Amino acid sequence: MSTAPPAVGAPESLVTADRYCIQCAYLLRGLPTSGKCPECGTEVAMSLREPMLGSASLDYVRKVNSGLNFVLYGILFLVLMMILSIGAVFVMGAANAQLAMHAAGLIGSIMIYMGYWYYTQPDPGQVAEEKQRAARKVIRIVVAIQAVVALAHLVLGLIFGYNAPPGVRGAAPGAAPPDAIALVIGALGIASAVAWIIQYFAVMRYTRWLASRVPDRWIVKRTKVYMWLLPVLSTVGTLVIVGPLIALILYWNLLDRLRKHTRAVLAGKPRVLLRGVDG
Ligand SMILES: [Zn+2]
Repeated sequence: MSTAPPAVGAPESLVTADRYCIQCAYLLRGLPTSGKCPECGTEVAMSLREPMLGSASLDYVRKVNSGLNFVLYGILFLVLMMILSIGAVFVMGAANAQLAMHAAGLIGSIMIYMGYWYYTQPDPGQVAEEKQRAARKVIRIVVAIQAVVALAHLVLGLIFGYNAPPGVRGAAPGAAPPDAIALVIGALGIASAVAWIIQYFAVMRYTRWLASRVPDRWIVKRTKVYMWLLPVLSTVGTLVIVGPLIALILYWNLLDRLRKHTRAVLAGKPRVLLRGVDG
């Protein structure tokens, strides 16, 4: 599949409007339309063809916005449930609390999976789609894998009672040996973890593309820094305990900032003028 050549052949024509690079949000005004972005090398013409989020179809922006809602509220829900579970152990006993946590975890996960699915809706007006569409598709595939793994986990749990307290273990009579099931569950857990890591980097790339269409340079810059910062905080950061929590807060705030823009677009404004938006 080859892309169409730049529409106009006049090499002297310059970008007159406040348009930004769709890959890195570099301000393109004054550059030749036939040139390349000085910061990342993306063709200027490609960025000019891409509609800004403010002029994208409202139906599309609405879906992206509700996707962000599901992801952000889903994360808040999971955090709240985690805090509540500490108290729940004393109120309803460890076994019941574990069961309730499992159910709550499932609800929160479904919210988040649905959220990423909506967040990565294809834009009908989108034209410059190579790398960006790849990230969008990766997120969708990985989210689908995670949903299947979660479902398999649930079904296995219901059949073999792996999540039940010790006395009830192997609830189904004549069930396969718990060791084999434990192995399957372990493998599913690893698959899910790998999927989650791939998804994280794809979300950063996809969010950068959306932010460059707002445009919000603050988000664009943050997605570049977060590519290494949040993984470091979530792994090495566990040594100081709060590392993963800080990573989660930074991630949440990043998506929340993009949601402020999608809300503004739905309210008829091109974007919100936040601190650093043009920086
Ligand atoms: Zn660029």
